[in-house]
Amino acid sequence: MPDASAKTPSKSGPQKALEKLGLVRDIDLALHLPLRYEDETRLVPMATLREGTTAQVEGVVSDSRVLLRPRRQLVVTVADGRDTLVLRFLNFYPAQQKAWAPGVRLRVRGEVRGGFLGQEMVHPAVRVVQEGEPLPSALTPVYPASAQLPQAYLRKAVASGLARADLAELLPPGLAPAGLMPLREALQFLHHPAREVGVETLEDRSHPAWQRLKFDELLAQQLSQLQARRAREAQRAPSFPVRPGGLQERLLAALPFALTAAQRRVAEEIAADLTRPQPMQRLLQGDVGSGKTVVAALAAAVAIEAGWQCALMAPTEILAEQHLRKLVGWLEPLGVRVAWLTGSRQGRQRRAMLEQVASGEAALVVGTHAVIQDQVAFRRLGLAIIDEQHRFGVQQRLALRSKLEDGPLEPHTLMMSATPIPRTLAMTLFADLDISTIDELPPGRTPVVTKLFADSRRDAVVARIRDEVAAGRQVYWVCPLIEESEKLDLQNATATHQQLCAALPERMVGLLHGRMPAAEKAAVMSLFSGGQMAVLVSTTVIEVGVDVPNASLMVVEHAERFGLSQLHQLRGRVGRGAQASVCVLLYGTPLSDTAKARLKAMLETTDGFEIARRDLDIRGPGEFLGARQSGAPLLRFADLALDEPLVRTARRAAERLLVQDPDAAERHVARWLGQRSEYLKA
Ligand code: ADP
Ligand code: MG
Repeated sequence: MPDASAKTPSKSGPQKALEKLGLVRDIDLALHLPLRYEDETRLVPMATLREGTTAQVEGVVSDSRVLLRPRRQLVVTVADGRDTLVLRFLNFYPAQQKAWAPGVRLRVRGEVRGGFLGQEMVHPAVRVVQEGEPLPSALTPVYPASAQLPQAYLRKAVASGLARADLAELLPPGLAPAGLMPLREALQFLHHPAREVGVETLEDRSHPAWQRLKFDELLAQQLSQLQARRAREAQRAPSFPVRPGGLQERLLAALPFALTAAQRRVAEEIAADLTRPQPMQRLLQGDVGSGKTVVAALAAAVAIEAGWQCALMAPTEILAEQHLRKLVGWLEPLGVRVAWLTGSRQGRQRRAMLEQVASGEAALVVGTHAVIQDQVAFRRLGLAIIDEQHRFGVQQRLALRSKLEDGPLEPHTLMMSATPIPRTLAMTLFADLDISTIDELPPGRTPVVTKLFADSRRDAVVARIRDEVAAGRQVYWVCPLIEESEKLDLQNATATHQQLCAALPERMVGLLHGRMPAAEKAAVMSLFSGGQMAVLVSTTVIEVGVDVPNASLMVVEHAERFGLSQLHQLRGRVGRGAQASVCVLLYGTPLSDTAKARLKAMLETTDGFEIARRDLDIRGPGEFLGARQSGAPLLRFADLALDEPLVRTARRAAERLLVQDPDAAERHVARWLGQRSEYLKA
């Protein structure tokens, strides 16, 4: 980002701070709502003050003095005729001491505490007033302020933004839901609510004024999603017919298993998209182990049969290599040439691969995202498949999309995710995507049993590992970090590896971590998938995609430090064969409330959708989407967990508005999203 401040050195500190918050236009300021309110609308008699409550009183200074012990402080006593109250200031200016002299009337607001001299307030807000000075009729807004952006400055800026902003109603009458409060009224109210209003309805955002803002925000978002969808529908993509007796059918016939009903359904949904001359933009979601890879292979077969190339991208080399092995096994016997691109494959081999991709000789290209994004030229890319797309930030997805967009024909895009998107999110942030869901696991799987163990019971877990290994099964042990960090005090993978080697001297115990060279990682992985290695100690590099059906025990160390969807992914590494599998979550104490909530969710359900829903509850949508890195807050006002009905209303209104008054739709999006609209389309 260019530094805008360099060009405008005259801008004041607070002005810059406003810009940093994105408060540039009048409408931005008008939409910057208070964090909370202070009630300065009423005075209470000093006699009714209760310790621990915040109150406003008025009185005349009867005494004012600077004490030096226990430390220098200004102590002002005010009296309201019957009672007195002590005000204590540990920091004060001489001017304040002078202004708050005996005989002066003060209006003070603060928290009441019991003190040595009776009730007192420490550092209350103080104003010198005349007798009978009127009280404000509205609650006082408190905005999220900072040292660079003082509250008083912000209040003024917001008030003038609110006064100047164009708040004209944009929705044609009849299109807005019944009872919607006018925007100007809603904003006026939220910045300066009348004192009769219950603070609760403001805080829980149930007040009609809040409803209005949430509706407008959701409408803007729905509109921008629908616009993106329309833009995409105007684009052209190659159309791939599915031929009887073609590559897809031959692949199906050659598979060692029959597809589940869910796999058949989603494969058909995808094939139907691929026959259309518009670019597919579909998300394939299915729990870990639900069998997404074969669905991807079936889609690839359709594109390849039609004479186009397909790229499959995975977030890690290990995962990409797993895909490669499966796809080569399935497709090469049918005559499909597969190329393999990763960061670790360099030099002559890499150039040869790139040539095969450029000439079109390689019909399928498998690799990590980074590699495919950067330098690969396809002869004709018809289908891009992105695995575990949820692991990528919004910005990465935008970058990838723009990379794919060149030439007269757009490729089709299939994204795959093991983290199902909760329904409200699917309707909002992903409204531009079509979604296919595999809601069924392949037959013969036994659900994984989850157990919680305090870290102090490691020995019991090690004994359990011995039993499992003795029965010919394999075990994962996942650690959160690779190096001892004093700050985090984590058991590191190396130490655990040594401990397990000592406990199981007759077995092969391997170690896998992110800093190992790729070739070494691959060697360890292949020993484990080949069954020679009994126990694999690993950092979270195995988080996604590893498929070793003989592994029946997953131990996660310091499980409290993992996110919920991560834990669910890890648990999904076992339970892939017919034998009963166990996931042991080792935890250290004390546990935070959110850590408790996560572990509880893991104990209570193995359903990926339920996990995703709870994850959304615990983390909120921003983090859930990994959009935090992008710095773009997704929704400020609406809460996707609570406002589902409003999402539906906004959706319907957006569809109608685009048809009835596209101009108003445009203005509404600009009002709400400004430059942020790109993010919401990602
Ligand atoms: P994920 O959806 O987590 O990516 P995978 O595609 O890795 O799942 O599939 C998990 C395992 O299930 C793989 O070993 C795969 O070959 C196998 N599998 C996929 N579909 C079926 C099926 N219909 N019947 C039996 N096994 C299947
Ligand atoms: Mg997978």
